[in-house]
Amino acid sequence: MIRLSEIEDTQVLKGEMDTVRFQQMGDTDLKLLKPVTYELTVAKFDDTVAIDGPVNVAARLECGRCLEEFDIELALTLSIKLVPGTELTQSPEKELHGEDLDVYYYEGDEIDIDPFVYEEVMLNIPVRPLCSEACKGICPQCGKNRNTEKCDCPEAPSSLLGEKLKSFLN
Ligand SMILES: [Zn+2]
Ligand SMILES: [Zn+2]
Repeated sequence: MIRLSEIEDTQVLKGEMDTVRFQQMGDTDLKLLKPVTYELTVAKFDDTVAIDGPVNVAARLECGRCLEEFDIELALTLSIKLVPGTELTQSPEKELHGEDLDVYYYEGDEIDIDPFVYEEVMLNIPVRPLCSEACKGICPQCGKNRNTEKCDCPEAPSSLLGEKLKSFLN
């Protein structure tokens, strides 16, 4: 939580978000191996607030191919800008979006940082994670994890071949 009236010029904001806090922020079943940590520099120029700094995440994900769990660590950088206003006063031209920074709106004197950290993390967690690019996945026929076990199942015929075979038999 930042209290703008307490910031002279810049302020370094260190913090962490544990699993409980993380799940409060959104509907996520992300398994954190340790709390997400951040060290953000908050800079105030008139009414504009710029927030920049590293966010570190260690999480356990499930491979989309072999369904085994594996751990990842992400070193992210949060970089946002806030201007006074509300969603309702947002101009449709979005002229502020010309810059690389994401621009958000704040009201009053307090800004809760956690939702921004949460969003940055969730945007960077792979949607379909793979334990490795070379993961061989699970055999669709016998169900063995082909990374660790060998199976002798024949390659499934492609559907195109199946179609040809069908028309041949007819
Ligand atoms: Zn895998
Ligand atoms: Zn198999």
